[in-house]
Amino acid sequence: MKTELSELIGRLRDSENCDVLDDVDEAANELERLDKENEVLQSQLSESHRREKVAVEHIEKFQVPMYVIQENWNPSECPRCHHNFCDYEECNDGYYTRAESLERCPYCGQKLSWNLAQEGTL
Ligand SMILES: [Zn+2]
Repeated sequence: MKTELSELIGRLRDSENCDVLDDVDEAANELERLDKENEVLQSQLSESHRREKVAVEHIEKFQVPMYVIQENWNPSECPRCHHNFCDYEECNDGYYTRAESLERCPYCGQKLSWNLAQEGTL
């Protein structure tokens, strides 16, 4: 398309048809301007696609449940941000009531799994 147009412009120039030359020059300039604009838009689009992918990966990472860190005599701990849940767990004589109702870490939003603890493997 662009090559055809350049050829056409060349032919018109050779024909010395001065009336149309100005229009042709203008059109050629416009085409060049649009090409540049298109290039800029393409790079903006690919940058926005890249950022979208990063955001989706970030969200997905927090969607996959991670096992809560539970150690004797310690409040449960988020496996991602390592914030402890002592605000959510009553402690009686060193025994923490595990905050198993928490589906997500209240600090970073990581989805939690308490299953290992329930199976007694922690
Ligand atoms: Zn967290």
